[in-house]
Amino acid sequence: MMSLNFAQISQDDLISPMIWKAAYGFATTCILGVAAYAGYRVGTPERYQARQHLNPELNDQIKKVVDSLKITDDQLINIMQILEEEMNTGLSSSTHNQATVKMFPSYVQNVPNGTEIGQVLALDLGGTNFRILLIDLHGNSTVESTSRIFVIPQSIMIGDGKHLFHHIAECLHEFMEKEHLLNTGICYPLGFTFSFPCQQESLASARLTTWTKGFNCSGVVNEDVVKLLQDAINEKHINAKCVALVNDTVGTLMACAYKDPSTAIGLILGTGTNACYIESLDKVGTWNGNYDEPKQVIINTEWGAFGDNGCLNFIRTKYDEEIDVSSINPGKQIFEKMISGMYIGEIVRLIILDLVQQELLFLSHRDIYRDYTTPLYNRGEFYTKFVSTVETDEGIQFSNTRRVLENIGIQNPTYNDCAIVQYICRQVSKRAARLAAAGLAVLINRIRKPHVTVGVDGSLYRYHPRFKYDMKRYMESLVNKDFQFTLTLSDDGSGVGAAMVACVADASPCKETRVYDEEIVS
Ligand code: ADP
Ligand code: MG
Repeated sequence: MMSLNFAQISQDDLISPMIWKAAYGFATTCILGVAAYAGYRVGTPERYQARQHLNPELNDQIKKVVDSLKITDDQLINIMQILEEEMNTGLSSSTHNQATVKMFPSYVQNVPNGTEIGQVLALDLGGTNFRILLIDLHGNSTVESTSRIFVIPQSIMIGDGKHLFHHIAECLHEFMEKEHLLNTGICYPLGFTFSFPCQQESLASARLTTWTKGFNCSGVVNEDVVKLLQDAINEKHINAKCVALVNDTVGTLMACAYKDPSTAIGLILGTGTNACYIESLDKVGTWNGNYDEPKQVIINTEWGAFGDNGCLNFIRTKYDEEIDVSSINPGKQIFEKMISGMYIGEIVRLIILDLVQQELLFLSHRDIYRDYTTPLYNRGEFYTKFVSTVETDEGIQFSNTRRVLENIGIQNPTYNDCAIVQYICRQVSKRAARLAAAGLAVLINRIRKPHVTVGVDGSLYRYHPRFKYDMKRYMESLVNKDFQFTLTLSDDGSGVGAAMVACVADASPCKETRVYDEEIVS
């Protein structure tokens, strides 16, 4: 026992110094390591931050928030199948009334071939700006146009419908007076681009089914908007006749087809989103026109309403729900609210706010956490054009992102702040591009032509630095390999296209040619 005890004691005596030495060595290494690491951070803060947040998705909490936006490939294919079914529901006469994707026949059956000629007026109402245009179709695939933008005050956008049409007629009078078109003895044909869902009964009669995109004038739903417009024009004794009501998607398709006959789809990615395409009459159960050649008609899908029956709930996030409940049309335009310019910036703002509330963002700006006067806390203050600006930044300088953040009240944002905000913007616009791509793929697979050109209009598509490339890339994996497609930016489809429809519809084209610049009138 003694020897054992001795042995134990002597062993303990031997082990202790070894442990102490090891502990001492370890502690020294740790202290030196921490000191070196601290020195590294102080010396190269940007590099340290770059390592930590170059991929903001690596931060688990941020990843969890932003991941709610991700749509998997399987989900996207599922969405395409649902959309296809919804489109068939809209086209069938027995189910059209219950359909959310309305698939309205536009009564435009012929696409132009470039030989159209004449001088036509066009009105473009349906989003951010109200424009009036005078368009000369030269008959050789070229056009010249002059246009002016008029502001529609917010009070008129949500006021009495009569005031809206009086205001439009007043602007038209002012425009025609300036262009010396009044009292010329000519009654000018006018194409009315009215980009809201309408049940058309002919080219020049259309009942509004519902307002969208920030408009909500009383006394217009279920009324013939061509009649309301013409009554207001006649009241002011203006020599113009509305001969066609055209959706902006249809205008875009027509304007693009004037230059490229393979155009069969028109797409809008602006304030709202919508698409139209050329469909065979035998697929259009709701068609009540004649079945003469060409046995086709442009269908205005009104796909912005896809999901209004809850079929997209499986991909909606709490941000989408918040956007919807605080909109002027809750429960409506669910697909549009995930894609278009009116909503993308706001989705980004809501995610930023959520991260701020979870103390994951703007950590060095805790003074703004409860300063509800900063633009960050105000609805609509993160414009969709900011998303474009943020995504223009490449590398780690973030000069554009910094500018945008300063705009919403974050002075001197850190590297991390910029990286995270850019990551959010990227995911929100990627999701929008994926959804739009899925919609287009459904149409291209349906048209079944070896090659289809898609005419696209709208500021989101035009100005966002990646949207068009993302959308094309996603489409490549969703479109049937037998079909080729081209995306073409349409030059002012909603103006020129409406004029084209009006020109074809009108038998007495005018001959004068004018060219002026666009100017803004408030
Ligand atoms: P509309 O659809 O009303 O005819 P536009 O095609 O100009 O008009 O689209 C307006 C929408 O585009 C607005 O919602 C706006 O937020 C968005 N937008 C404007 N500029 C940009 C931009 N640079 N990048 C992305 N979106 C933009
Ligand atoms: Mg437009």
